[in-house]
Amino acid sequence: MKLLNYINGQLQEPVKGQWLDNIEPATGKVYSQIPASTADDLAQAVAAAGAAFPAWAATGAAERSTIMLRIADLIEQHQERLAQAESQDNGKPISLARVMDIPRAAANMRFFATAILHQSTETHYNEGHSLNYTLRQPIGVVGCISPWNLPLYLFTWKIAPALAAGNTVIAKPSEITPLTAFLFSELCIEAGLPAGVLNIVHGRGTEIGQAIIEHPKIKAISFTGGTATGKTIAATAAPMFKKLSLELGGKNPNIIFADCNWEEMLSTTVRSSFSNQGQICLCGSRIIIERSVYERFKTDFVARVKQLRIGDPSTDVNVGAVVSAGHLDKIMGYINSARQQGANILSGGTRVFLDGRCAEGYFIEPTIIDGLSADCNLNQEEIFGPVVTLIPFDTEEEAIAIANGTQYGLAATLWTQDLTRTHRIAEKLESGIVWVNCWLVRDLRTPFGGVKSSGVGREGGWEALKFFTEAKNVCVKL
Ligand code: NDP
Repeated sequence: MKLLNYINGQLQEPVKGQWLDNIEPATGKVYSQIPASTADDLAQAVAAAGAAFPAWAATGAAERSTIMLRIADLIEQHQERLAQAESQDNGKPISLARVMDIPRAAANMRFFATAILHQSTETHYNEGHSLNYTLRQPIGVVGCISPWNLPLYLFTWKIAPALAAGNTVIAKPSEITPLTAFLFSELCIEAGLPAGVLNIVHGRGTEIGQAIIEHPKIKAISFTGGTATGKTIAATAAPMFKKLSLELGGKNPNIIFADCNWEEMLSTTVRSSFSNQGQICLCGSRIIIERSVYERFKTDFVARVKQLRIGDPSTDVNVGAVVSAGHLDKIMGYINSARQQGANILSGGTRVFLDGRCAEGYFIEPTIIDGLSADCNLNQEEIFGPVVTLIPFDTEEEAIAIANGTQYGLAATLWTQDLTRTHRIAEKLESGIVWVNCWLVRDLRTPFGGVKSSGVGREGGWEALKFFTEAKNVCVKL
């Protein structure tokens, strides 16, 4: 199977005729090829997006909304096909793709398609002098670059507000998980999205991704991915005065107090640790536990995690494959480093070899580690796999210090029944999001993003629509 670029409304092969292999993580085998796009493909995409911009920007919000809602409907109609594709391409359990990834992709389109129908702008009445009003105008051609962990979910999370606000878009999915982005381009054609409004180019981040960042006609970049890549992107785009939204890595604390609702905390912590094989930027990879319940937590948590079924992601399992051979090596490297540092591997810690179809797949047991200091590499660096560490604390101040003690600040989870403590700690956590007695409960209207090395800017709700527009103040003399 060959996936194609989507440029100027057409599905087309890469100009230079070069292709990359696409591997199924559960089998370790090549199952499709994607364009290794170059600056030549980008030139066509930017020309198409530039030509489409004036008409798309002038199309009223109601018309843009109608087309985007049609795309959302089509995602829902093709939900099962898309879920199967996401599971095959990423290695995630099919059940997760069915309940999370694909419904959320449709929700993203629907949310921003309807948000623009209810948008208003500010006025400032300067008594006796002037009336100011704010116009929010689309930027032009913008770039959206997304990672492999939640492929269609994050791809549409960026594209939807960009299109809704009236921009035309050049989008690049991760080369590791291109399949649903390709299927999405087919749905856009079916929905009647005008040619050139959305252009999807596949290929290597360092080649076509970097070319998008460098292109002078692409005026804004919305990027989700690793912190190191974010740094490279900022170094290129900032001196060009491009608007930048960077959603980067995390090393999220999950803080557990003795007074929490134990059962709810336990079942949610299993999910927040190992959903999507721990490959969600919001996973709580550092579990910080009040010392009085540390041993109890260890026993109960290990028992629960041992019940997780690991196996072929197309079947009824809880844990599928990690995304690539390279990523498997990286994760196993961290586990081996923990062993060398004398840590206790309480559960997991080894690669899993399955029989049959998945004999060469990239499977790792859900792994729980304790006995490491809070400042060692495993507690400081993002592993982004099925690995969590446990750290005990004695006082509230100590818990906050450990939670804040990394370069990251994306999301934190807090488990306690004490309301005043909740407010006190939530205020002090250096984190873009604080979940209290829950995890990954999302309301698309809320600001989403990180502090410190976890990113710059916010997505979600009006924040995303503001990012994808320029504010213009019009001042009229009274
Ligand atoms: P990467 O940073 O490696 O890649 C992200 C995207 O950027 C991919 O499409 C990649 O292409 C592309 N890319 C790579 N190099 C460049 C470049 N020089 N210029 C332009 N684009 C480039 O991240 P991963 O795909 O490995 O995703 C995992 C990371 O994403 C984790 O750190 C995770 O925390 C973070 N993440 C953050 C989220 C947030 O909201 N804060 C949400 C989800 C994930 P290619 O795949 O072809 O290399």
